[in-house]
Amino acid sequence: MSNIKFFDQVNRNFDKAAAYTKHPPGVLEQIKICNSVYHITFPLKKDDGSIETIHAWRAEHSHHKLPVKGGIRYSPNANEDEVMALAALMTYKCAIVDVPFGGAKGAIKIEKRNYSDTELERLTRRYAFELIKKNFIGPGVDVPAPDYGTGPREMSWIVDTYAAMAPAHDELNALGCVTGKPITQGGVRGRTEATGRGVYFGIREACNDAEDMRKLGLTPGLEGKTVIVQGLGNVGYYAAKFLQEGGTTLIGLIEYEGAIYNPNGLDIEKVMQHRKETKSILNFPGATSTPKNAEGLEMACDILVPAALENQITGENVQRVKAKIVAEGANGPLTADANEHLLQKGVLIIPDMYLNAGGVTVSYFEWLKNLSHVRFGRIEKRFAENTNRKMLQAVETLTGQKVSQNVFDQITHGPDEADLVNSGLEETMISAYNQMNEIRKQHGGKIDLRTAAFINAINKVALAYIELGIFP
Ligand code: NAD
Repeated sequence: MSNIKFFDQVNRNFDKAAAYTKHPPGVLEQIKICNSVYHITFPLKKDDGSIETIHAWRAEHSHHKLPVKGGIRYSPNANEDEVMALAALMTYKCAIVDVPFGGAKGAIKIEKRNYSDTELERLTRRYAFELIKKNFIGPGVDVPAPDYGTGPREMSWIVDTYAAMAPAHDELNALGCVTGKPITQGGVRGRTEATGRGVYFGIREACNDAEDMRKLGLTPGLEGKTVIVQGLGNVGYYAAKFLQEGGTTLIGLIEYEGAIYNPNGLDIEKVMQHRKETKSILNFPGATSTPKNAEGLEMACDILVPAALENQITGENVQRVKAKIVAEGANGPLTADANEHLLQKGVLIIPDMYLNAGGVTVSYFEWLKNLSHVRFGRIEKRFAENTNRKMLQAVETLTGQKVSQNVFDQITHGPDEADLVNSGLEETMISAYNQMNEIRKQHGGKIDLRTAAFINAINKVALAYIELGIFP
């Protein structure tokens, strides 16, 4: 699998879609290419006093809008090609969900579990320092976020390093240099769950398309559909949780150590508890277990959600994949060949650059919060509650009837930050799905959702180049 070049895979999908647009070749080339890549090496002093050289990257794929945005990954397999591919996907993702940013991505090549917390803090702060030195981070320049192997803790270390070193003109907005922070450090409610929640909204939209479901021999709606999720990290765990709450049956779960399967359903919270206690999902009561995690991808189900890493379904295993819908929670889980094979088989593929865009959408909300220095809902919540109460009381007086306390409370409730963030995310995922689906229909259903998503993204980025012109 290691000889598969991720950026080539992304570009093959890009070229397929670009053929349906009328933009000049030079514009298409400029959209496709990665604008800047910074490869950093720096020394880390380990707890035992030894010195290790750390390799890290930050790729800024497209500066057509600023800041650029994208997560930071800690992975032993990180490399320049992967970072550029992920940065490119960020450009297209932001365009698809109308987040006004260019795309970027960062990575540090480490196996995280081999480092102590103090070593991780030192290398994260040093990485942030290197980015500051080269102007590869800042609220108006480049705004990282969590990705595979990183979370709110790493984002805190980065914001603290940035704030300590921020130039005077940036001090006021320093919190906006990174998103996915803890709420107490300028984070926004709903960010942690956002990608998984967005995956849920996207799958729900796809399953509501009666025509698509009919072609797959399925009924519309989520109720009763069987689901397998690969990777129970930030994206996979929350996707599984919301899909379970939304009425699907989780029949398979796949992690690093293996896969478990139960056609009668697996309770995600109980599996997570079991994993916490035993350090493994295997031997979960009532489920069949296998240490061969790749086999989990091949089990029969309605919806397969790969939410771990890229290149999981390739020419090697694609023939054995039985899912009717593949919902890409991870970035690039299908190679371009595997993608074509599944499309020919009639599988519905919900593409990564749309489906996992909930993370960057809510990151955008967090950045807006940081720049405005006020929590969403703080100004209007009480006002909305008072207005709603007066309106309802007027209705009660006019009709002579009283609504129940429960209904009264629901209607008078003013929106707090979580309400606003989650509804902004839902609206974004629905309207982006509709845009993508509309483009697919304009082409008489001859193109797939990924191609439609790429056409949408290419057109939006091309418009920016056409309207702005080329400097100088
Ligand atoms: P994470 O580190 O929180 O979780 C990843 C999980 O996958 C871990 O539990 C890991 O043990 C598991 N895993 C690794 N290899 C596996 C394998 N071969 N089989 C089964 N499980 C395996 O990472 P994450 O943030 O959830 O990111 C997952 C994917 O989603 C990545 O492709 C990432 O780029 C993408 N993504 C993440 C976000 C985000 O907000 N975190 C947003 C968009 C896209």
